[in-house]
Amino acid sequence: MALADYFARDAIAISQVLQGFESNAFNARLQRVRVAVAFGEEAAASRDGRELLDLSVRLLARLYPSLILVNGAASDRFAGELMALADSINPNIDTSKTGTADVGLSIGLDAPALEIPTVYAGCDGWLARVGSGSPYGTSDLGNPFGAAFAACLAAANLFRFLFLPDGATLLDADASFPPDAASFPILTTSRVTDPLVLVGIGAVGNSASWALARTPLIGRIHLIDPQNVELSNLQRYVLCARSDEGRDKVNVVGKEFGGLLQALRHRGTWASFLETNGYKWERVMVALDSAADRRAVQGSLPHWIANAWTQLGDLGVSCHSFLGQDACLACLYLPSQESKNEDQVVAEGLRVPHLRDRIRVLLGTGRGSDKELCDAVATAWGISPMRLEPYEGRPIRELWVEGICGGGIISLGEAGHAPRELQVPLAFQSALAGVLLAAEAVRDVLADRPRRKTSVRRIDVLRPLCNPTPSPQPALKAGTRRCICEDHDFILAYQEKYDTPLPVPSYEVIST
Ligand SMILES: [Zn+2]
Repeated sequence: MALADYFARDAIAISQVLQGFESNAFNARLQRVRVAVAFGEEAAASRDGRELLDLSVRLLARLYPSLILVNGAASDRFAGELMALADSINPNIDTSKTGTADVGLSIGLDAPALEIPTVYAGCDGWLARVGSGSPYGTSDLGNPFGAAFAACLAAANLFRFLFLPDGATLLDADASFPPDAASFPILTTSRVTDPLVLVGIGAVGNSASWALARTPLIGRIHLIDPQNVELSNLQRYVLCARSDEGRDKVNVVGKEFGGLLQALRHRGTWASFLETNGYKWERVMVALDSAADRRAVQGSLPHWIANAWTQLGDLGVSCHSFLGQDACLACLYLPSQESKNEDQVVAEGLRVPHLRDRIRVLLGTGRGSDKELCDAVATAWGISPMRLEPYEGRPIRELWVEGICGGGIISLGEAGHAPRELQVPLAFQSALAGVLLAAEAVRDVLADRPRRKTSVRRIDVLRPLCNPTPSPQPALKAGTRRCICEDHDFILAYQEKYDTPLPVPSYEVIST
């Protein structure tokens, strides 16, 4: 058995959540971890049960070098499909149907019993059930969301059990998620009249697409991203196989659609998408990394926005309209002096701040690092240029992420912990954020009442879910008068675009 060849990225993610992380010891430990996934005929035969298993394998195969699939005799064929899926994600993985595991994931009521510590997962429509006491059933409703939430929460439980101090005490006892699932509309075959828009096909965009492609919605979805899949992405891109390295993100993910929801693929930035396709969009899902990119989407004034994030400490989703007292997306991401652009982070992290302009171009174009740049980095770190040769011609982000932050060139001990700016979530964290994002968009499509106010839902999956988990919280405008949603011209433009009745603002409108 062996770790995936993109493991360096996993190591960064884990180093950010484990105190005293030491990569060699951790690698040695992880090499020995064996995870069992048990299921019976019920989960293999139910639509939602199959989706729960599919996403679970997509998450687990990216980290664990050994998966044991324990299935009832009647579900052999599906077990074979899951093994093939795991192999496509990590060709080095060891999959088997027998053996002793350290911990198990059991899905459905009729899964074979595992005589080891076990996390149980099930789903019922929108609702996920995860716990450590007894099995849960799986629904057959064609609603992938409860299944997806359950897969992410179960993967989080396995991770906590295996790697966090006193992990056995950090398992969910009997958790349901989301707490307000009863208020979600019934997911039935429905036509989306205004196309959906998903900007950002990174880790969050991957799992949002995984969920959306499995809904019974009929219509179109625009997928927007300028980049190719890089090796370091595979650690948490649930729709990408190992063989997708180097391919267009929008094409890899676009292939997942093709049923009722048709994907329109746009390789480019948000700005280039707007130039070609116009500025009036009913519903935009934002799965972008930076505050500046999020502000740019809000500045283009979509009618409604859902935004997902992952950061150290929590992940979540927020939904925004633009008028009234509620926070717009830009309110939550107003510029602060501490935030740095990626090119600055990378240039300083590589210790070549004088080459920042060149690094910005390389980051933007995805072109490979040249010898001169690699030599400058080697000089700055006082190491032999030969150690950087493997990175010549490869994207600069890989040199930064794998080479420096991930221990490829400089050991994690030498480089210190990865800087805060480089926040690499674990696969289940990004996946949960993306599924939450897709769920909010689908709820908005199906809603039969006026749009809800701005709401922010936060969750920390490195600890057990609170019981009950907190419901989404409202968020008001920043009130700093620095945001575009307090700018008269933007308000007027929004009203003209969507023919919204004039609100009576309860704050003072300022003109620029
Ligand atoms: Zn605002």
